[in-house]
Amino acid sequence: MLGLYHSIKAFFPYLRSIIVRGHDLKEDYEKMLDRARAVLPEKTLTFERFETPAIESFLQGNKTIIRNFETILQKIRRPPELLAKYFSKELAIPASLESGKLVLNGKFYERNLKDKLQAFVDAAVVCKECKRPDTKIVEKDGIKTLICEACGARAPIKF
Ligand SMILES: [Zn+2]
Repeated sequence: MLGLYHSIKAFFPYLRSIIVRGHDLKEDYEKMLDRARAVLPEKTLTFERFETPAIESFLQGNKTIIRNFETILQKIRRPPELLAKYFSKELAIPASLESGKLVLNGKFYERNLKDKLQAFVDAAVVCKECKRPDTKIVEKDGIKTLICEACGARAPIKF
């Protein structure tokens, strides 16, 4: 028993130095983080990349129906006419709204529609500077501009 006591006692300074060193490391790490935080602007810390909503579509004869059109609009906060017109123009076909769904006169693959929607989000939803979706579209003299409410950046929209 005494032998054990002595060996623990002998071991103790070593143990203590590990704890102290561990503490120092933790402190260094925290100082490092503080420095990193000081360099980065505040918003980068809480930034989350905007995720373009998925498209759920199905074929009905020669038409393609986007069934979750309303959900997409809610997520990207854009009026139905704007996105309907965009799809119509991009795909060179007539498009119409029918009880919350978008009806495209033509057969289209879901991945093709997904790419189009992504291009729309890049151009007319997400800020090019800060990549946030907190934006609005202002139209003046027939020219649409994407204005970021988070950082104030402006970018012309080409459709
Ligand atoms: Zn911005």
